Amino acid sequence: MSKKVKIGNIFIGGGAPVAVQSMMTFRPSDTKNTIKQILALEEAGCDIARFCVRDEADAKAIKTIREKTHIPLVADIHFDYRLAVAAAENGADKIRINPGNIGGEDKIKIVADCLKAHKLPVRVGSNSGSIEKEFLLAYGRSEKALAESALKNAALFEKYGVGDIVVSVKASDVRLTVAAYRYIAARCDYPLHLGVTEAGTLKSGVVKNSIGIGALLLQGIGDTVRVSLSAAPVEEVRAAKLILRSVGLEKDYVELVSCPTCGRCEWDLIPFAEKTEKFVSKFKKPLKIAVMGCVVNGPGEAADADLGIAGGKGFCMLFKKGVPYKKVAYEDVEKEFFKEIENCLRSAD
Ligand code: SF4
Repeated sequence: MSKKVKIGNIFIGGGAPVAVQSMMTFRPSDTKNTIKQILALEEAGCDIARFCVRDEADAKAIKTIREKTHIPLVADIHFDYRLAVAAAENGADKIRINPGNIGGEDKIKIVADCLKAHKLPVRVGSNSGSIEKEFLLAYGRSEKALAESALKNAALFEKYGVGDIVVSVKASDVRLTVAAYRYIAARCDYPLHLGVTEAGTLKSGVVKNSIGIGALLLQGIGDTVRVSLSAAPVEEVRAAKLILRSVGLEKDYVELVSCPTCGRCEWDLIPFAEKTEKFVSKFKKPLKIAVMGCVVNGPGEAADADLGIAGGKGFCMLFKKGVPYKKVAYEDVEKEFFKEIENCLRSAD
């Protein structure tokens, strides 16, 4: 099991729930928009927010952002160790840094001393573009190069007494990402930050991330996830939550199953399934509901659903655990089905 690391008011690793994170698209010095974006992400279920800190104004803005938001904040630093120190002093809960571009070991020591003084964790790691030269030469652009490069970065902070280290080994290639995380998970107990980097736009990016992150989570690897997308951060959080649900790591939600429809479908199922999904998204209790195309096969195919609806000729049939119990006219379908969902949720209390 990975080591448990405290980040602000949450833990990652050591059996803690897998934390969802995303990265802000505004600079912290655009405080108003950053706060607005973080609050929206909190609402969507984000556990950790990261932003880049590029100058002193960004670092100073963390103080206000910290006061007005609730989830842990991670400052992403490149090149200037002084910004890492300033971010820590202004209330960042974690620093993400690349020791390779920070300007030498003396600077790393300064950052390490600062992290220890503020009791802050650090994330180090590599991605396919930032593998240290020695490993690139020795192993090529491979999982071993990615992982050994990240382990070297972690060892540098360990050398200066920082114990709370989170590690990432991201690539945009799904196979390479998965192989690198498997490699490093077998060799250390640092909590792992999972992600497929530069994964692309919404649709293809979600597929790449789901395969990469999902494969690892199913193997018990990974403690926090960031779904990288060329899309709004809230989409990253939604996708991450769906991945966690799909692999069974998040259970307090209403799961919707719906059939793909076929020639037996008796009603306009697709818009109703979408409407239902939207309706149930606000509930945080485990319940499985089904929206099915026909009464001939629907109840049987969705026999494990707590509650379901299937289309018939001129009516829909409600069923529980595969057993039909109530006919509803098409015009009353939404009202009746949604009321039944709420009843089921109430009786689960
Ligand atoms: S439930 Fe009915 S309509 Fe839907 S896929 Fe199965 S057979 Fe086809």
